[in-house]
Amino acid sequence: MKKFLTIFICKLLRFAGKLIGKGSSKPGQVALKLCPDILSRVQLPKYIIAVTGSNGKTSTVEMIAHILTQNGYSVAWNKEGSNQIEGVTTLVLGSATLGGKVKSDILLIESDERFARYTFRYIKPTHYVITNLYRDQLTRNGHPEWVYDALADSITDGTQLILNADDPLVSSFGHGRNNVVWFGADKLSSDTETLDSVYNDGAYCPVCKSPMTYTTHHYNHIGHYACTKCGYKRQNTQYTITSVDLEKGEMTIDGKHTITLALKSLYNIYNILSAYTVASIVGVDGAKIAADMNNYVLKNGRVITFELGGRQGTLLTSKHENSISYDQSIRVASACKDGCDVMFIVDAVSRKYFTSDVSWLYDIDFEMLDNGSIHQIVLAGKYVNDLAVRFSYTDIPDSKIKRFEDIGEAVDFLNSDRREYIYVITCFSDKGKFLAKVKGE
Ligand SMILES: [Zn+2]
Repeated sequence: MKKFLTIFICKLLRFAGKLIGKGSSKPGQVALKLCPDILSRVQLPKYIIAVTGSNGKTSTVEMIAHILTQNGYSVAWNKEGSNQIEGVTTLVLGSATLGGKVKSDILLIESDERFARYTFRYIKPTHYVITNLYRDQLTRNGHPEWVYDALADSITDGTQLILNADDPLVSSFGHGRNNVVWFGADKLSSDTETLDSVYNDGAYCPVCKSPMTYTTHHYNHIGHYACTKCGYKRQNTQYTITSVDLEKGEMTIDGKHTITLALKSLYNIYNILSAYTVASIVGVDGAKIAADMNNYVLKNGRVITFELGGRQGTLLTSKHENSISYDQSIRVASACKDGCDVMFIVDAVSRKYFTSDVSWLYDIDFEMLDNGSIHQIVLAGKYVNDLAVRFSYTDIPDSKIKRFEDIGEAVDFLNSDRREYIYVITCFSDKGKFLAKVKGE
């Protein structure tokens, strides 16, 4: 009876919340108060797929859901992206019958890496994807060892781990375990021999803390590594990116499935590969997955194309206070070959709380924009001066940089007879202020 009531109330609150456009964690929060172990009382589907990691979770989950749905599976997943236990509870109870049976073939959960141990106390994933982990970012979020323990605690014996072999921190979760599926990329034409990034998460072996060596870097600490002392090294992969042509916008998986990329970035190809891996494990044919991923445009609103006068552009949603997410977007913009302009907007640092801390700007690798293809850099928003000070520490010539406190004035400046492509890089909290002034697609 308690189960029935809890599920009923959760569904009711979820329905009411949808009507008034409220978030999806509240119903789960109430349900957990009414019945703290409600998640252990529901009957779950055969496949419980969890995705966690520092970056790419939301996109990967959306891609997995897309592929599986396209291939006839019913998937319960947290579209709203609320990825802590309350949001997951809302998802599970919302997808269950009043008797407590989840009706879908597959339960697909995005989980915050810091809170995975709470989320998976009652729900044991059958398949558990870890996309990537950044120690720098973990440090910002809390003590790195604590995050490791939190994640390690959420992995149980019956779970098949699906790990990014190119990430030494992620791979350490598979160290000494049997049931692991590895995905990763062969040496790519865009690789570098030495690390060309400010992040150095791969400097030391996660197992014995001795120095590590890399034969190739895909980006940041993602690459082919080996410990100089204990023998810990990159594992061979079962699902592999065999080639990438970012200029053409193509990737090939396992030497035979070529996918055209809607977003030409290395981060995107890893998200596609992890979705490919999961869908393959569930039983979808590789050629079918590749067709479903071909030119796939994410629906989560993180990448939005727009027109400004006669100019084309893309808004890349990043997260203020999260240097890695900026890094990803800057990498996309810096790869443009035909010349482009890049605009940064920092108007409200956070949409959740008031802060004017801009120290995170100093963790972002703006130096990547110091190349001939980037013509103008436009800085805008209330924090334009902080942005300008940050740029003064780069080698980018000051003549390339324009500053506007008013976002409208910055847009007017870009709305010129120039033809270069425009990239706008900003946060959820500020992107609407830009989009209101252009014609979005
Ligand atoms: Zn070692």
